Amino acid sequence: MSHTSAVARASSPAPPSGSHRFSSVINQIAEEMNTLDDHGTPADYIPMLADADPRRFGMAVAEPDGTVYGVGDWRQPFSTQSISKVFALALALSLDGGQLWQGVGREPSGNPFNSLVQLEYENGIPRNPFINAGALVVTDRLQVLTGDAAGQVRDLLRTESGNAAIDFVPQVAASEAAYGDRNAALAHFMASYGNITLPVPALLAAYFRQCSIEASCADLALAAGFLARGGVRADGAALLSRSQAKQVNAVMLTCGTYDAAGEFAYRVGLPGKSGVGGGIIAIVPGVCTLCVWSPGLDKRGNSVAGVSALDRFTTLTGLSVF
Ligand code: GLU
Repeated sequence: MSHTSAVARASSPAPPSGSHRFSSVINQIAEEMNTLDDHGTPADYIPMLADADPRRFGMAVAEPDGTVYGVGDWRQPFSTQSISKVFALALALSLDGGQLWQGVGREPSGNPFNSLVQLEYENGIPRNPFINAGALVVTDRLQVLTGDAAGQVRDLLRTESGNAAIDFVPQVAASEAAYGDRNAALAHFMASYGNITLPVPALLAAYFRQCSIEASCADLALAAGFLARGGVRADGAALLSRSQAKQVNAVMLTCGTYDAAGEFAYRVGLPGKSGVGGGIIAIVPGVCTLCVWSPGLDKRGNSVAGVSALDRFTTLTGLSVF
């Protein structure tokens, strides 16, 4: 039985359910994910996320023309968390070009996403923009450039997805702030090396707001479309140059799934970015963008069913960047 449903963002009529290029593949994947023995455990260090049901599963595919379809909980908003870091990075690069790379590297860290150790022997320059320290640097630069980093990220998601209801969840931001000692430590430590411009409390507030944005698989698959279109936004304007889009995809491939990026590249073979809310976006350049959500995480913080579903997608379709 087909569960796929679809919407077309433009005014063109939606094709009948189940008729899209990858409909039968994602239906099959959803059925397979139902039978997984272990769905992992929701993030518990952010109390607002801890109660999620690990068996929930959604998957959406967005094609470059803005058609989006999905299966399961693909319209259910969830906490984007670290997925928001991709959009913050794209905005910072679009406004600041290569300047950004003076304060943050682009090498895999091989350490957990919130690790402090590497920062000390690398003089306060985080390894990449997707570990928390690096994301704090990106948000710092974006806040200085725009005055409202989190608002810019939310607005980019709204514009690219066509969903004006995407927003922050203040309780999630507050819950992160209440348990935010480690992020505060990272920010203060980098500030001691002069690698943070804002006062640390203002930076943390912007970062927690950015991470608290809720969006669905449909929203995020559409919003990441510019990465499958060589940097071109939904309305045809350039957000990034083709080369910058390649750079973001490359950093996602090598650094987007915490210290499991090697395993993710091995299994899935696509640029991807996960968040502890259980979402993962993945890019098939020129073909489509994918977003999966299932809140149960593995030990490294990636959604168990999410990684597995993307693994099955590239296996069943033969599509990957390799
Ligand atoms: N807001 C989370 C944190 O900073 C993001 C973690 C994640 O999704 O990787 O701890």
